[in-house]
Amino acid sequence: MTAGNFGGDPLVERMRPFGTTIFATMSALALKTGAVNLGQGFPDTDGPAEMLDAAARALREGYNQYPPGPGLPVLRQAVAAHQRRFWGLEYDPDGEVVVTAGATEAIAAAILGLCEAGDEVVCFEPYYDSYAASIALAGAVRRPVTLRPGDGGRYGFDPAELRAAFGPRTRLVLLNTPHNPTGKVFTREELTLIAQLCQEFGAYAVTDEVYEHLVFDDAGSPHLPLASLPGMRERTLRISSAGKTFSCTGWKVGWASGPAALVSAVLRVKQFLTFVNAGPFQPAVAVALGLPDDYFTGFTAGLQERRDQLRAGLAEAGFGVLAAEGTYFITTDIRPLGGSDGIEFCLGLPERSGVVAIPAQVFYDDVDAGRHLVRFAFCKRPEVIADAVARLKQ
Ligand code: PMP
Ligand code: GLN
Repeated sequence: MTAGNFGGDPLVERMRPFGTTIFATMSALALKTGAVNLGQGFPDTDGPAEMLDAAARALREGYNQYPPGPGLPVLRQAVAAHQRRFWGLEYDPDGEVVVTAGATEAIAAAILGLCEAGDEVVCFEPYYDSYAASIALAGAVRRPVTLRPGDGGRYGFDPAELRAAFGPRTRLVLLNTPHNPTGKVFTREELTLIAQLCQEFGAYAVTDEVYEHLVFDDAGSPHLPLASLPGMRERTLRISSAGKTFSCTGWKVGWASGPAALVSAVLRVKQFLTFVNAGPFQPAVAVALGLPDDYFTGFTAGLQERRDQLRAGLAEAGFGVLAAEGTYFITTDIRPLGGSDGIEFCLGLPERSGVVAIPAQVFYDDVDAGRHLVRFAFCKRPEVIADAVARLKQ
């Protein structure tokens, strides 16, 4: 006998379209099959020694209780100083910066804090999977604009499609650059159009810049924060995190910066999601953000070498290889190998070749636009990439 609403699938309806994230699914498959995991984007080496030492010290020296709600002052100051140093952006560490549990929480708190049910969020597809889930949790509606490979395998979008995605219910644009999974770096011209539309339609911008230090020499553009364009600082919430830049994805230390009203909206939601996080890691990330320039240039150069290594190997193995201007990822076209469906291809790849990759179609509403595309991560040691390439060539 059941009473009330007990029984059936207890999950709220707005979350039912979302299964287990593709990253967890594919990493579990890698573990089960012993395949080389070029799926989920996490490095297989530790971050800078100065940062690790600082974390070990903090663990022993009294940083094990709740940090302040907005984050430790030393980290907020380091976040502000880092943005001034690299992007010429000024934020007051007291009020214009908040520390979050990774960029993921900042994105979720921003959407939950800024969107009423029915508000529309313009984003580019393929999109990072948490975007759709956070938009759905808020009861908001996503308006995706499709990125498509063009000249030289570089992704672009149709300006008319972007304009058509804006309307009276547009609350914000959620922009990721450098972009996962395509490796696209948005150009000044593209950002200028986005900025104009935000201003014309009275929309905010939330930017996900977790790959801000991963733009390669041959990219069509350097990294440009949308907040640095005229008229945009006052309407942009800029999000980043330590995971990618300092190879510590498990620490989950992220942050959001912007005008005080936007940061306050994030903080007011965030305090009821996690309240605070990562006590002893916060001072360590502050140390990392202050490392000299050669850490950052060395990091970018090291990943560019590994991109080149994987890119060459994938091409030799017969994949169609698209441009990878930034991030941890290369997108490939499986049609030259006789494939047509990326999910089918990726589910069979561990058995066939001993490698795990991510089907890009799961990041699209327009599934056909990404059906034939598969993403490989190159944030791995050179010997791991060499092993994967040797397996793929067989
Ligand atoms: N945004 C993008 C585009 C990502 O690729 C990731 C994964 N690192 C995140 C957000 C999440 O970042 P974090 O691990 O700091 O929550
Ligand atoms: N950002 C990582 C990727 O795209 C994974 C993050 C996650 O597993 N949620 O591979």
